Amino acid sequence: MDTELLIGSSFEPGTEFEETIFNPKTGGRIIDLAEASEGQIDAAVHAAEKAFSRWSRTTPAERSACLLQIADAVERHAEDFAALEALNCGKPINSVRNDELPAIIDCWRFFAGAVRSMHAPVAGEYLPGYTSMIRRDAVGVVGSIAPWNYPLMMMAWKLAPAIAGGNTVVFKPSEQTPLTALKMARLLADILPDGVVNVILGRGETVGNALINHPSISMVSITGDIGTGKKVMHAAAATIKRTHLELGGKAPVIVYDDADLEAVVQGIRTFGFYNAGQDCTAPCRIYVQDRVYDNFVADLSAAVSTIRYNQSDDNSNEIGPLVSKRQRDRVASFVERADEQKHIQVTTGGATSGEQGFFYQPTVIAGATQDDEIVRREVFGPVVSVTRFTDDQQAVEWANDSDYGLASSVWTSNISKAMSVASQLQYGCTWVNAHFMLATEMPHGGVKQSGYGKDMSIYALEDYTSVRHVMIKHS
Ligand code: NAD
Repeated sequence: MDTELLIGSSFEPGTEFEETIFNPKTGGRIIDLAEASEGQIDAAVHAAEKAFSRWSRTTPAERSACLLQIADAVERHAEDFAALEALNCGKPINSVRNDELPAIIDCWRFFAGAVRSMHAPVAGEYLPGYTSMIRRDAVGVVGSIAPWNYPLMMMAWKLAPAIAGGNTVVFKPSEQTPLTALKMARLLADILPDGVVNVILGRGETVGNALINHPSISMVSITGDIGTGKKVMHAAAATIKRTHLELGGKAPVIVYDDADLEAVVQGIRTFGFYNAGQDCTAPCRIYVQDRVYDNFVADLSAAVSTIRYNQSDDNSNEIGPLVSKRQRDRVASFVERADEQKHIQVTTGGATSGEQGFFYQPTVIAGATQDDEIVRREVFGPVVSVTRFTDDQQAVEWANDSDYGLASSVWTSNISKAMSVASQLQYGCTWVNAHFMLATEMPHGGVKQSGYGKDMSIYALEDYTSVRHVMIKHS
């Protein structure tokens, strides 16, 4: 198992506080890993700074070739990555192997192509006697900070557009799930020039905080909690750093009475609980029209009660445990508080599960109302709430009545209604008769307090590059 930080060309252990990394399936300790010292953080930033002048002047073709090599290396090591991610996050290995790794490899390959075909307005004479052209240049050293729900995928989403755009990076994985990032550091060091990517370990309040406040960092990219995003914005103000924020979500799902109920139930069963609900786009706040509400609650509860987890044969597991005891207890406390409300019924699940590990039963909470905590706050666990509505427009208003704005979906067989509702929803993504499907060519990112950074797609490459105008006088 790789345990060392990557600083410039050197691999070295952290020297400070030791974090215990747990196996979420058993609750047992995997390893203790020491976080970076201030000196090591500084050295990583300076290594990235030193690498920037050369890397930012490589051609798109040269950077593209490196990204393709990285994709190939991840593909060659896919089995090891899948095993490591499953160990550290508790995910069923088939989810990592069959869902996440192909998407991760595709992300590296997409940006290898995208950087060679960026667009801008045509160069031309917008003033007589002057030729103007647009450039898109690297921003500088990016401090990149990832969460624990999809560690290797978040690393790809953040690193691929950043280095494709000519930036250099100091990357910090979540202190709870650093194992695949440490393995990835070894592959990156074999392919990229020294210092282009540096990987350091540590907690948010120490190492993360030092990174976002470092004066030589030009841009901070973070996926995490809204509270953490606010701290990043505050820190960024000191030196006017560019920020790329991917914050939480509380995705509403509007189910009209003409929807294909079986498809909705199947969609929520699959995607509301995928990754044990630790997904910022998870369909977790379901609004169902009066006429089909009772059938929907019955069918969804029955379907969710069949989700397989905590089986000794991992091949039959559909979901895993929560990432930590803390997260499991947090999820449990949300459900306990909801259950205390007289108008709420927990129709399936509602308890922790098993003697070992951080499992929580897949849970459906019916009868929730718009003001309930379970409808308003991000649970980030295998829990969905169902709320009854009568009036078409009421559902849209409730869906938009949230600080979050990442993902949403509308389910109806009426395409005009679907288009109208999609145009009114204040979310970075709206699916129609689907939820959660991601395409590398399409942007993933929010509006409102879910942040404004876009991952994947050409928009990510735009986020990680600066638009510049060069004007030439003819004589
Ligand atoms: P978190 O905000 O606690 O931590 C995210 C990362 O930020 C970690 O690496 C952590 O060490 C670091 N961090 C924490 N405090 C920091 C500080 N003061 N300064 C610098 N870095 C700091 O979030 P989490 O619990 O790891 O992840 C879950 C959250 O992430 C949820 O809210 C979820 O919705 C969100 N998320 C959003 C997206 C998206 O695309 N919008 C994707 C995945 C997760």
